[in-house]
Amino acid sequence: MSEHTTNHPAFCTPETFSEITLFSGVGHESIASILERCTTETIEPGEVLLSPGQDNTAVFVLLEGLLSVHLEGEDGEPFTWIERGGCVGEMSLIEGKQPSASVIAETPSRLLKIDQESLWALITMSHAICRNLLFVLSHRMRASNRVILEGSIKQRLLEQTARTDPLTGLYNRRWLDEVLERQLGRCRQSGKPLGFMLLDVDHFKEYNDNNGHLAGDAALIALGKLLDEHIRPGDVAARYGGEEFGVILPNTPLYQAERIAERLRKAVEVATIRDVDGNPLPRISISIGLSMQEPRATVQDLTMRADAALYEAKKEGRNCLRTAL
Ligand code: GH3
Ligand code: MG
Ligand code: MG
Repeated sequence: MSEHTTNHPAFCTPETFSEITLFSGVGHESIASILERCTTETIEPGEVLLSPGQDNTAVFVLLEGLLSVHLEGEDGEPFTWIERGGCVGEMSLIEGKQPSASVIAETPSRLLKIDQESLWALITMSHAICRNLLFVLSHRMRASNRVILEGSIKQRLLEQTARTDPLTGLYNRRWLDEVLERQLGRCRQSGKPLGFMLLDVDHFKEYNDNNGHLAGDAALIALGKLLDEHIRPGDVAARYGGEEFGVILPNTPLYQAERIAERLRKAVEVATIRDVDGNPLPRISISIGLSMQEPRATVQDLTMRADAALYEAKKEGRNCLRTAL
């Protein structure tokens, strides 16, 4: 770092002084004795001014040039830029900790270096500087909150994508299996019954062949909606794969599970399906296999028994419900 020591007030013009956030509303003369102790430095493009892992001993006010702030190493994309009049290093200096970000010169940059002792002297001497510093700090806090929030929004979106079926908007099988595992444990503990239905569209290959794949997609979307409408708030419906769907019915005795399944089957049977332009398409029907939780039953047991019941329903003519014994 090339260091040129110049005594204040030569470090900037009155106009530049008024542009410095830290000195906003501060009389130049009132802090002249402290500023006299400060030095200026010039750093070249690419030169690192602050970085995590390096102790910081000063606040740097940017008099000329442009700095970039990097959160994840010096090579990553800049998180933000510091323009003329801004400052860096105040957080680490006040806390006595190493900087949390890297600060690099983007262009030749001239800086006023205020060491720790001088900063505390300025704070003690001037209310306006205290206010400006609070402004700088709250601005930093807001920016880092934004990063956290954006990070958690991204994370949530990723999680949502990972558990959602893109065609129907229902959960996918992976998520259903996870929920079923948890619900099984919960119902086992509470001693309450749990039902699981597997349902499959009848002759769907033929439906696609006769009406086109897009019509088939429209039918699956419509079925997803019907499912959503016919289950209770605590139930969980998912697209199990292809034209097969799974529904978890927690805290549900057999007679109630059968009633829900029958109601759903009838609703599908009479539902009007429309293509994307709103034109009606042929109706569909579904076959349903229902299994009930048994002591020590695993997700796999429950699924296999529902699948076997579904197979029975298909064998017995389709568009009907069969319950696993
Ligand atoms: P069954 O009554 O015995 O269930 O007969 P099926 O024709 O429904 O059964 P099969 O397993 O032979 O055919 C399933 C069809 O579902 C074949 C496949 O093209 C179709 N299918 C699976 N996923 C989708 C999808 O996302 N969109 C569309 N349009 N069709 C799908
Ligand atoms: Mg199938
Ligand atoms: Mg089918």
